[in-house]
Amino acid sequence: MREYVGEAIVLHKDFQGELDERVVFFAKDFGKQSAKIKSGRKITSKLSPHLEPGNLIKARWIEKGSLQVVDALKQEKLDFTPGFLKLVCDVLAEHNHDEEVWNFLKNNKESSTELLSVLGWNPKGAVCQLCSSTPRMFGVDSLGYYCADCGAKVRGSKIYIV
Ligand SMILES: [Zn+2]
Repeated sequence: MREYVGEAIVLHKDFQGELDERVVFFAKDFGKQSAKIKSGRKITSKLSPHLEPGNLIKARWIEKGSLQVVDALKQEKLDFTPGFLKLVCDVLAEHNHDEEVWNFLKNNKESSTELLSVLGWNPKGAVCQLCSSTPRMFGVDSLGYYCADCGAKVRGSKIYIV
């Protein structure tokens, strides 16, 4: 069994089965993690209220086959919209520790274009990956820019205006 401790920002929380929840958070030292909150759906859960999206937390989680949160304490609520947190959740690779992304998020600045720049997809000078015209959106699944016309034709991927 491996144990992890550290600061993290909660990106997403979802139901898992009858009683459990699944939380996705970006940990300062370990990158994006997806972990179970055992009995998180129970009203008596001590962990779940601390693990709301947008919360900056101190947490302890263990790896026992899969990851499970065993301790969480909310430090502060960061001022991000659900849409932005979803974008962050979708574009970050699992277990990819990234100090620059951490500092950017901790500064509580909600900017999709700056986030993409920090991740190495600088929108400045980028072109639509299908027709090379000026991009209007970023395909999260395909990790590339699209103009409005091409973006409208791309199916099955999440596109955000930048
Ligand atoms: Zn295009």
